[in-house]
Amino acid sequence: MRLVFLVLLCLPVCSTYPLSGAAKQEDSNRDLAQQYLENYYNLKTDVKQFRRKESNLIVKKIRRMQKFLGLAATGKLDSDTLEVMRKPRCGVPDVGHFHTFPGIPKWRKTHLTYRIVNYTPDSPRDAVDSAVEKAVKVWEEVTPLTFSRLYEGEADIMISFAVKEHGDFYPFDGSGRSLAHAYPPGPGLYGDIHFDDDEKWTEDASGTNLFLVAAHELGHSLGLFHSANTEALMYPLYNSFTELVQFRLSQDDVNGIQSLYGPPPASTEEPLVPTISIPSGSGTPAKCDPALSFDAISTLRGEYLFFKDRYFWRRSHWNSEPEFHLISAFWPSLPSYLDAAYEVNSRDTVFIFKGNEFWAIRGNEVQAGYPRGIHTLGFPPTIRKIGAAVSDKEKKKTYFFVEDKYWRFDENSQSMEQGFPRLIADDFPGVEPKVDAVLQAFGFFYFFSGSSQFEFDPNARMVTHILKSNSWLHC
Ligand SMILES: [Zn+2]
Ligand SMILES: [Zn+2]
Repeated sequence: MRLVFLVLLCLPVCSTYPLSGAAKQEDSNRDLAQQYLENYYNLKTDVKQFRRKESNLIVKKIRRMQKFLGLAATGKLDSDTLEVMRKPRCGVPDVGHFHTFPGIPKWRKTHLTYRIVNYTPDSPRDAVDSAVEKAVKVWEEVTPLTFSRLYEGEADIMISFAVKEHGDFYPFDGSGRSLAHAYPPGPGLYGDIHFDDDEKWTEDASGTNLFLVAAHELGHSLGLFHSANTEALMYPLYNSFTELVQFRLSQDDVNGIQSLYGPPPASTEEPLVPTISIPSGSGTPAKCDPALSFDAISTLRGEYLFFKDRYFWRRSHWNSEPEFHLISAFWPSLPSYLDAAYEVNSRDTVFIFKGNEFWAIRGNEVQAGYPRGIHTLGFPPTIRKIGAAVSDKEKKKTYFFVEDKYWRFDENSQSMEQGFPRLIADDFPGVEPKVDAVLQAFGFFYFFSGSSQFEFDPNARMVTHILKSNSWLHC
């Protein structure tokens, strides 16, 4: 997938910035800009959709980056812009205009745990411990949140040092540039912080100051996104001139975190309400149409895909605006108006259902040997189509919902389980039958039925929230 995009990208950038005598320097500037816009301004994913207008797109992206980072919005790779692109920064992208992540994920509890999983060789262990402790206090002081440290087992926020490829889809880049990244609140990998150990982590400002970066990344772990306010801790560039001794959060950071958790208990300050984006309508489905329903929803390598008619919205953790694409632009051989979709993480495969057939996709490739008939999965011949499906990542079971019943498929034995179908109403009380789509996230199942969404807690076996279906699209 990546290779294809890189080849496409070369052309527009070359034509916008023609090579001349100083070809070498321009070459490396161009590479730098391309990489930067890909990493932090979502360039490659957008290019596919706007293939004929790439050079405009690059100018637009440069302008967006300049605006976000407080530079003159010239749309050109001037020396100020290149200088900023060379600065060390947080590895989480800047696309978005909100203080919080899309969907406004936050912890549902006020007491959180963290664990320092390993250490950097650059600093003594107790220096790392105290930098993290200090970073935690920064947020504790302005919220009702409290933290305690674990020394073993799974903490909410697992903190580790790693280099290059380290088990998620966001490898580090050696010394400089990307310093660290963190995931928004949630179970598993969510909430975790990774530091690039190719940096030199120090207590003072002689290398990269661990406290400052830890405090910034913790902001992400708690649900804050980047801020365009240059005074803010959540500004994406590393600022080595910050006065460490008198470090204070900016009002922007405080407003952001209090919009999620409110002020500390003793305080009487009113919490701020998070900003909501304004919908835009057209002939194609509008994401903020209050009547919007979905055909199917799936995860894909940590992102969410919401299918509707011939289109889908694609939402990543780090991108506050969902992208909107034609299904055929990614998978030309897939049908439109899907019935169901789900991802089996262990096989890195998304299964797509329409009528009595299903397809397997990996990234942007439809796998050979598909479509297959749904009856090969063990459905009786009377079943002509599936309403919705979801695969439970931990339990390795896939649920298929058909009208008011559901089937369960065992991913380990690759067979339909005995004793099914069962009634949805019996096992998922409170969920409306005729399920359009189901998503598993943050330990919940989200059942989509028309324009309503039921958040179901599988442990408590009850519906905990009823939301609008499009709440995931930042509406
Ligand atoms: Zn960041
Ligand atoms: Zn990572």
